[in-house]
Amino acid sequence: MSTVEIDYSKHAAVINLQNYLRVKCVHPDVNYDDTINFLTAQATAMGLPQKHVLSPNNPVLLITWEGLQPELPSILLNSHMDTVPVEGTWKHAPFAAEIEDGNIYGRGTQDMKSASIQHLEAVRALIAKGKRLKRTVHLSFVPDEEKGGERGMREFVKTEAFRSLNVGFALDEGLANAGEEYLVFSGEKTKWQMKIVCTGKAGHGSMFLPDNSGEKVRHIINRFMELRDKYRQQLVDDASLTIGDVTTINLTKLEGGVLTNIVPEKFTATFDIRLATTVNHELFENMINRWCKEAGSGVTIEFESKDPYTPPTRMDNSNAYWVAMKGSIENMGISITQRTLPATSDARFLRSHCPVLNFTPMRRVPPMPHQTDERLPLQVFVEGIQVYENILQAVGNVQ
Ligand code: ZN
Repeated sequence: MSTVEIDYSKHAAVINLQNYLRVKCVHPDVNYDDTINFLTAQATAMGLPQKHVLSPNNPVLLITWEGLQPELPSILLNSHMDTVPVEGTWKHAPFAAEIEDGNIYGRGTQDMKSASIQHLEAVRALIAKGKRLKRTVHLSFVPDEEKGGERGMREFVKTEAFRSLNVGFALDEGLANAGEEYLVFSGEKTKWQMKIVCTGKAGHGSMFLPDNSGEKVRHIINRFMELRDKYRQQLVDDASLTIGDVTTINLTKLEGGVLTNIVPEKFTATFDIRLATTVNHELFENMINRWCKEAGSGVTIEFESKDPYTPPTRMDNSNAYWVAMKGSIENMGISITQRTLPATSDARFLRSHCPVLNFTPMRRVPPMPHQTDERLPLQVFVEGIQVYENILQAVGNVQ
């Protein structure tokens, strides 16, 4: 028997994805108008009510498919509308949504316009089949995720519009996996970004002057880099660990200096730190304060971001939604690997309000978010619609 190659390029959902990928929604000068118009038209075509929240500059669109028992906590499928800019030379124009060898190319094919269309297509398919779920399903389309979500999800969860959704369980973006199984992320590392300011006495570059800003910044960099080595080694030594399980530390900016023959008053070192879920935040901060003291007088911390600790969502029998979701995926013969998300997503704002898992149905494809030639196999995209259909029927009917 020969394997029949299915041509997915004429699939209505694929054409819908192509149309969505061609609507630019790109930072830094992002404009959401065309995207909102596109998504609004989708809801109208499906006969579903919609609601607009937050401001036109940072809009949130909610599309609702009411359940048979709307008083039950609802299901939320979240996706962000914005994408990162395009860099490098692309094989196919990044906003043309061209298809080659079964792959669709374009900015947002993985992160995460494909999921937005899958959410819509799954609901569309269920409605077309005459299905009704017990629970109400909300699709949220949020702005600003690629900038950190401070003007998007962070604000949205504070609104009455969000509270009134009464979300019982939510799904937000995950990551593609090159292997056979799906990755599901129960939590994410905590982002701390900080500038360590090292001040001292300015002086001539030909002396050994005391109170030296260079000595202080060296001490700080050494301490951070020693700890970085330790965490990196843990990842090397223990094959069961992934990048989501260990704290990462990176020196991302070094600033200071005026002239070659002047010892400057100030050097600053900026670090991007992603704390593993096992790290005690108080002890970690105390340690950095201690390093600053050791470095000498006039060494201070300025936090650029300091996210709070959010406990991971439970992935055990106490979470009936997870049990239902897991069953629906495994019934398709697909296995699941549980991880901690190595980066941050909007889920960190949602997670203190409801259980949320980071999951996008992308397997047999390497993760390519933010990359040149970002692409997704059409087969993976179409399979994902069926996966969402099955998940919705499972979690939407949880007792
Ligand atoms: Zn994303």
